[in-house]
Amino acid sequence: MSKPNIAVIGAGVIGLSVAVRLQAEGHHVTIIAKDFPSPFETVDSRAAINYASQWAGAHNRFWPPRDDNDTLAVRDHAMSLTTFDRMDDIARRHPEAGITFMKGVEYLEDPAPEYRNLSTDRAAQLGYRDFRLYRPDELPDDRVKLGFEYRTWCVNPMVYCSYLLRRFVRSGGKAVRRELLHEREVFTIPELVEPARVVLNCSGCGFGDPNSFITRGQTCVVANECSETVTRQKADGSWTFVIPRNFDGGTIIGGTKEPDNWESEPSPAVRTRLLDAFAATYPPILRAGGGKMHVLRDIVGRRPTRKGGMRLEKEDLGDGRLIIHAYGLGGRGYELSWGVAEAVVDLLSSGRARL
Ligand SMILES: Cc1cc2nc3c(=O)[nH]c(=O)nc-3n(C[C@H](O)[C@H](O)[C@H](O)COP(=O)(O)OP(=O)(O)OC[C@H]3O[C@@H](n4cnc5c(N)ncnc54)[C@H](O)[C@@H]3O)c2cc1C
Repeated sequence: MSKPNIAVIGAGVIGLSVAVRLQAEGHHVTIIAKDFPSPFETVDSRAAINYASQWAGAHNRFWPPRDDNDTLAVRDHAMSLTTFDRMDDIARRHPEAGITFMKGVEYLEDPAPEYRNLSTDRAAQLGYRDFRLYRPDELPDDRVKLGFEYRTWCVNPMVYCSYLLRRFVRSGGKAVRRELLHEREVFTIPELVEPARVVLNCSGCGFGDPNSFITRGQTCVVANECSETVTRQKADGSWTFVIPRNFDGGTIIGGTKEPDNWESEPSPAVRTRLLDAFAATYPPILRAGGGKMHVLRDIVGRRPTRKGGMRLEKEDLGDGRLIIHAYGLGGRGYELSWGVAEAVVDLLSSGRARL
């Protein structure tokens, strides 16, 4: 039987990864999206504010599951390991893809039990590479109760997404710019060579999903260089982090996580707070700039978040047509991207709806 034609809605990191993965399975794939990867230097930040992939850091941070009964966290952790391995493979074979492997450092002021249990053995069991717990004298100050490092990766988001799009088109994929009102609209689009029988909804927030909401993120790009990614989770629930964006992307200092905040403009006061907080945790960032931060620009983006976690589900329309939903990745779209792509392939071939 011939493979069904597939249309993927969305050219964010999820739509692109899913499209490339389905191509590898031999499908004819068309991507339909309002936004496609654009150079960071010229993109209209207001027009593209809902295109989360454009504004991400983006780094990988593992989120250890509480225990084996923590089903969703176990699934997501497995997806992050799948993504880690795929990123490693792409980085080795395609240095131009915008991926850099480096040391990831984490500091926690009030570690949850899953972090307190993170012994060297537990980290190895969870698949962390080059994991090392820090001694008390290696922590930045006495508010930090736990610190550790492991091997991880960062991407320059638009270098990476542009690479995925080029790879997709070079392998015969088609890309159509269109704004849709509903995922079922795709079944009628004339640009498709044959009508699609399968639609992948990788639209970030979905279409009218009552469980979807946005989580605003404000970060700042500086010219100061940094060779590792560092994250500090504070006791008050706020975060300070650095993400080196190699390939001339500067260095991201972050960042806020503000559910349901629709403010589109960056706050200068927040920028000052973010830069000061990170410099206090990691003074070498200032030394890299001759004693100060060299600000290039502010970023405001909207993480496509969903109550109950991502929607990964197959909807059988009963007439030979299928919709597979894969959206609502929140702050983890890059980290889980290849795991989501594998889950989509499973859903398509097995007929099982997962979660
Ligand atoms: C400040 C910030 C920092 C972040 N840092 C990280 C990080 O370090 N690591 C990490 O893993 N993640 C990070 N994220 C989260 C990450 O960016 C998202 O999880 C990810 O980009 C979601 O990808 P997506 O493809 O699902 O959605 P999107 O990137 O939003 O793409 C959605 C696609 O669907 C299309 N679309 C939507 N609606 C329609 C419509 N009606 N018609 C046609 N097309 C439509 C859009 O045009 C777009 O192409 C961060 C996000 C922000 C904002």
